[in-house]
Amino acid sequence: MTSPIGLPVLSPAELQRYSRHLILPQVERSGQQRLKAARVLVIGAGGLGSPVALYLAAAGIGTLGLVDFDVVDVSNLQRQLLHGTSDVGRLKLDSARDRLHDVNPHVHVETYPTRLTSANALEIIGDYDIVVDGTDNFATRYLTNDACVLLGKPNVYGSIFRFEGQASVFSTVGGPCYRCLFPEPPPPGMVPSCAEGGVLGVLPGMIGTIQAAETLKLALGTGTTLAGRLLLVDALTMEFRTVKLRKDPACPACGTRVITELIDYDEFCGSADVAMIDGSDEVREITPTELASLLLDGADVDLIDVREPREWEFAHLAGARLIPLGTLGDALPTLDRSRQIVVMCRSGQRSASAVLQLQAAGFARVKNLAGGILRWSDDVDPTVPKY
Ligand SMILES: [Zn+2]
Repeated sequence: MTSPIGLPVLSPAELQRYSRHLILPQVERSGQQRLKAARVLVIGAGGLGSPVALYLAAAGIGTLGLVDFDVVDVSNLQRQLLHGTSDVGRLKLDSARDRLHDVNPHVHVETYPTRLTSANALEIIGDYDIVVDGTDNFATRYLTNDACVLLGKPNVYGSIFRFEGQASVFSTVGGPCYRCLFPEPPPPGMVPSCAEGGVLGVLPGMIGTIQAAETLKLALGTGTTLAGRLLLVDALTMEFRTVKLRKDPACPACGTRVITELIDYDEFCGSADVAMIDGSDEVREITPTELASLLLDGADVDLIDVREPREWEFAHLAGARLIPLGTLGDALPTLDRSRQIVVMCRSGQRSASAVLQLQAAGFARVKNLAGGILRWSDDVDPTVPKY
């Protein structure tokens, strides 16, 4: 890809389409040919993957791979511009392929309608020059990082939460990787997902567009990328900061290289532990149906909702009270140890960690609402909106 010799030829239609690139001294015809020769894999066709894939397709990246197993939900449309209202219920990759073909029929789109796992990541990523991380969970993010380091592929990173975003380029020659920055994942349930914590609709647009720009520079071999720097964006104050990142010589992925193969990332990130806790006697559970019949019988139950205030405003159970997980420690004196307590959140994960916290504080009569408010809506009261 470094010499124009052997680069793919641009047709007259392509020359016309890319004319605003061709007059850029940093691109010109040979740069556009490099973009056409490039193979870029976008992991996730959601909030970040949407602007990344749309702009890379429009810019003329020759081969775009997309990995996603999800189906378009109406709540995606607030930010995931690859998909439209008529796509609700379709595989995200089907609507993405249609949209990208319409944006630029010269781009070859390869789709992988699967979850990226330790079993398939090296094979899928191995076929590409550049990887764009548009994932929304820690397990896939560490998996993507380690696979990119093992294969020596640059990893264009972005992440978003509420009004804040981050971007960088990891796993370049001599540059740091995601593990250099975050050696350990946060404890399970401590960091709410976008579904739980919310995200401003334009934020993935801002961060994803930055990822697309970094990808184009990598493919062109021009400019200075974010390798070795972390860009921090606060959309609420509209402040952009960059902090220097150092490659960690003790990093097990890119430093000591003790990670020589992909591991079990669900276990590493503790999702497996949460599942185990949920199913064991450690955290005692009550199903929504059982709770509903207790309440109908007039049982005295203290219903504690550990979600965030905005989630509470959207939907909550009658008779419950809000104690966000982060404030539970301070709220312990307001709880009556003699009463039966049922803790709930959106899906039952955060409340499981709240139950553990309460048990550690000596509360004996505490149970977790299995499946959270989502399952309450499914099993007991469909008028409680799901989100
Ligand atoms: Zn590293």
